[in-house]
Amino acid sequence: MAMPFSDPAASSNHPALDDVRARIARSAALAGRDPRGIELIAVSKTQRAEAIAPLLAAGQASFGENRVQEAEAKWPALVEATDADIRLHLVGQLQSNKAEAAVALFDAIHSIDRPSLVEALARAVERTGRRPDCFLQVNIGEEPQKGGCAIAALPGLLDQARAAGLPIIGLMAVPPLETEAAPYFALLAKLARDLGLAKLSMGMSSDYETAVMLGATHVRVGAALFGARRVPAEG
Ligand SMILES: *Cc1c(COP(=O)(O)O)cnc(C)c1O
Repeated sequence: MAMPFSDPAASSNHPALDDVRARIARSAALAGRDPRGIELIAVSKTQRAEAIAPLLAAGQASFGENRVQEAEAKWPALVEATDADIRLHLVGQLQSNKAEAAVALFDAIHSIDRPSLVEALARAVERTGRRPDCFLQVNIGEEPQKGGCAIAALPGLLDQARAAGLPIIGLMAVPPLETEAAPYFALLAKLARDLGLAKLSMGMSSDYETAVMLGATHVRVGAALFGARRVPAEG
C-alpha cells in the first residue's frame, strides 16, 4: 500500500496540498496520533486531467471518484503518464451492474450499503481476482434520502459481506449537511470499534480536521484541494 505522504512537513510546490497536509498533521498531533496513519484522498470527481496533474506532480497518490464511468474515462491515461503508485477510491454510490467495472478499476470501495451490492461485488471479486479494500457506508444521520446502510442493519450486512469473502476494513459516512459533524464522527467511530473494524473513512473539506481528531484513517477532500467544483456533485 502506498504511503499517504512520507513527510507531513515537506513542501510540495502545491500550496493547497501543503495546507491540507499541515492541517491533518496538526489535528493528528492534537489527538496524539501519527499522521502517517491517515490517508488523504484527493476527491477529483468532475475535475479534468489538467487540474489533477499538478497534484500528481506534487506527489499525491490517492484519489477519489464518485462515478465509475467518469473514472474509467479519466484515470487509465493519468496512471500511465505517471510513475507513481496511484490508489483510486470509489466514494460515490455504486449500482450493482457496475460492480465488476468498479472492482477492476478501484483499489478501495467506500460505498457498500446493501445486500444486493455485497453479492454483486463478491461475484466481481471472484471473477476478476482483485480484492479492493472495502468499507461499509453507514447512513449515520438516518436521513431518508441518503445512501448508506441503516445503523440497525449494519451487523447483518457485515456478517453477509464477511461470509461472501469481501475484505471489509472499515466504515464510511457522510454526516447530515449543515449540522455539527463531530457527534456523527464519534458515533461512526464507536460503531466501528464495536464491530472490530479498524478503518474510518470520514471527513470532507469542511470538517476533515475534526474527523482526524476523532479517529479518521481516510479523509476525502475535494474542494480544499481543487477549489470549487465545476458542476455540483451529488453527495
Ligand atoms: C464530493 C465528495 C467528497 C469531497 O467533498 P469536498 O467538500 O469537495 O471536500 C467527499 N466524500 C464524498 C462521498 C463525496 O461525494
